[in-house]
Amino acid sequence: MQKIRKISQLFFLLLIVGIPILNLIEIYFINGSFISLTVGDLAISDPLAVFQAIFLSHKIVPLMLISILIPILIVILFGRVWCSYACPYFLMTEFIDKIKLKLNIKSVRNKNINTNKQNIIRYGLLVIGFIVIGILGVPLLYLISPPSVISTQMIMIIKHLTFTSEVIILLLIIIVEIFFIYRFACRYLCPTGTLLSLFQFKNFGLKVEHIGSCSECKACIKECPLMLDPKIDGNSKQCNNCGICVDSCKDNLKQKTLFFKMK
Ligand code: SF4
Ligand code: SF4
Repeated sequence: MQKIRKISQLFFLLLIVGIPILNLIEIYFINGSFISLTVGDLAISDPLAVFQAIFLSHKIVPLMLISILIPILIVILFGRVWCSYACPYFLMTEFIDKIKLKLNIKSVRNKNINTNKQNIIRYGLLVIGFIVIGILGVPLLYLISPPSVISTQMIMIIKHLTFTSEVIILLLIIIVEIFFIYRFACRYLCPTGTLLSLFQFKNFGLKVEHIGSCSECKACIKECPLMLDPKIDGNSKQCNNCGICVDSCKDNLKQKTLFFKMK
């Protein structure tokens, strides 16, 4: 499963780099960024960008709402696979983890993680962000969304050979991530992932499940990039269905123990 996930992540990375290059040679069949993408006549938008535009303009444009239907449907059916299979920042954090391992830099992973506290922080930030956008007209949530910034900055770099100040915020997030709070953006900050998680329903869609006896080796907890316990949090709004826990479960070799199930 991890091979397929990696191929998918690389495909989306290729899209980020490839689209501005195609545009440079005047091919516009596919156009835009991960904020808003058009493929032929089909428009697909990041729900965060659309809700942000609504709060900024105080107007609802039906076409914009239609453009978020595909991403929302995918989340309802398959969970937040955007995060684990497509987001360039998630790929980057996995790469950073590998480098840290090679350099023997230990990640600080809090064992007694409280997922409720995480939810309060990330949903709180989302609400504050929308209030700030509505009152001050500052697109705050875009600025702290790593995939949005990476995608738009890639266009700036490739098309205009420059980048804008959003890169500084992204660098600050990466520094916090490396030295202070493990997977800081995905667990606490990123409004793109937080907004998408609103469409993950506890008893509907693709979920991590467990049955039978478990040898309690805790390999799944150690491997989970979001520090979840898959047996408890597999159907939570934090889980992004990466499947790393399922692949790490040694009990699965003997009998079906930890697996994905469509509810
Ligand atoms: S939470 Fe945000 S940064 Fe993390 S994987 Fe999801 S979209 Fe990317
Ligand atoms: S619980 Fe499993 S599927 Fe969910 S984020 Fe953790 S490792 Fe990935």
